[in-house]
Amino acid sequence: MIPVTTFAGKRVAVFGLGGSGLATASALAAGGADVVVWDDNAGRVQGAVETGLKAQDLRDIDFSTLTALILAPGVPLTHPKPHWTVDLAHVANIEIIGDIELFCRERAAHAPNSPFIAITGTNGKSTTTALIAHILKQAGRSVEMGGNIGTAILSLEPPAQGRIHVVECSSYQIDLAPGLAPSVGVLLNVSPDHLDRHGTIENYAAIKARLITKSDAAVVGVDDRFSAKAADGVEAASRQLTRIGIRNPVSRGIMLQDDWLMETTDGSAGKLFELSLALNLRGAHNAQNAAAAFAVCRYCGLKDDEIATGLMSFPGLVHRMETIAQEGRIRLVNDSKATNADAAERALLSFDHIYWIAGGVPKSGGIADLADHFPRITKAYLIGEAREQFAATLKGHVPSELFDSLQEATSAAIKDARNDAAADITVLLSPACASFDQFSNFEQRGDAFRTAVFSHLSNDEMHRDQS
Ligand code: ADP
Repeated sequence: MIPVTTFAGKRVAVFGLGGSGLATASALAAGGADVVVWDDNAGRVQGAVETGLKAQDLRDIDFSTLTALILAPGVPLTHPKPHWTVDLAHVANIEIIGDIELFCRERAAHAPNSPFIAITGTNGKSTTTALIAHILKQAGRSVEMGGNIGTAILSLEPPAQGRIHVVECSSYQIDLAPGLAPSVGVLLNVSPDHLDRHGTIENYAAIKARLITKSDAAVVGVDDRFSAKAADGVEAASRQLTRIGIRNPVSRGIMLQDDWLMETTDGSAGKLFELSLALNLRGAHNAQNAAAAFAVCRYCGLKDDEIATGLMSFPGLVHRMETIAQEGRIRLVNDSKATNADAAERALLSFDHIYWIAGGVPKSGGIADLADHFPRITKAYLIGEAREQFAATLKGHVPSELFDSLQEATSAAIKDARNDAAADITVLLSPACASFDQFSNFEQRGDAFRTAVFSHLSNDEMHRDQS
């Protein structure tokens, strides 16, 4: 745990008592703050009290006695409308911050030169975070990984010289971290997502870009116009910058050419890494993640061959284009983490002859932007709130069928795939939707897919055994 000493002796409120909220409250208390916690969910309040935290309904508190309101990232700060605690904090004119900000202040106070790598982007954050941590660890560095991935940031070991913090940051977390100033900031990409929480794409992009505004060095994927503009801002401020160009070449930075990551300096290009050697980084989107990790690890002082070793041995993450089974010609891929069309596009681009399971709670725009990839899809199996809308978009291009459950959709897709004589078939769950209509989260959805796949495969084995 990182005791938060910068609020010692001060009174603070923590609202939102999920995993990171609880960790934040404990870290503040351990550092000597007078902490009061609350949540709109009574069960969570009860859970916090059981861990020894002091709970009180914040409506009964005079906010002018507080130094700060510490908000969990899931609690609306601005859109669709500010949470009631945010309104109270504004009236009392106290700051509203989150756990990443508390980490930044601790680092600034106790170990300002300790290496701190922060990663954001609409897609690829977790993969890139895990990849960077993996490469650094393989090279023998001491690494603490957390934030939006896995462990809450304040549950990690404190910043220290020689200890590298590799931290995934969501847009919600950046919005609550005005003092975010990592040693290396990574902005992978920006595409429409979470607009319910940020209002407009411009506002969302501006929040994402804040992660690199004050970083000592920035690594930016410049394939989309928002990230490209953010990179121009870094360059204009004369700070260290590595541009990553996967769809478009870059004249100075790292780009993709055939299967190679190439380093370009004005007018010349040199080979860095052959991507097909990284077995668990399939697809152009992973080229972006690999290139970003390459640049970051160089900033951390690793040699190119150390980085290559780490890229090759990266085991991949579950629920992200994870091949969970292979039955003869049929590959079964769990990409439950693809919660928007842009992420699903990466998976569609990575395979041919796809039996596509999609649907859930749609994001704005649905799957209209995926039309170029419809020829890769043999048939679509649609579930959840989005199913009629997606069927309408696919009509005339891809045959589709609607299902009540993921399990039924999976069974039908596997049966159809088995009746297909093609040489290389992929049954792909890549929903292009949030999961909340039928599941608690994307992990549960991916696990349900895995269970459906294996029950189907093993049932079938049983049938074969009995016949
Ligand atoms: P995040 O943590 O940002 O949600 P993940 O690494 O968990 O990202 O990947 C989520 C999904 O996004 C995966 O299903 C994958 O197919 C897709 N994806 C991964 N990296 C990228 C990228 N650089 N660009 C676009 N899509 C990506």
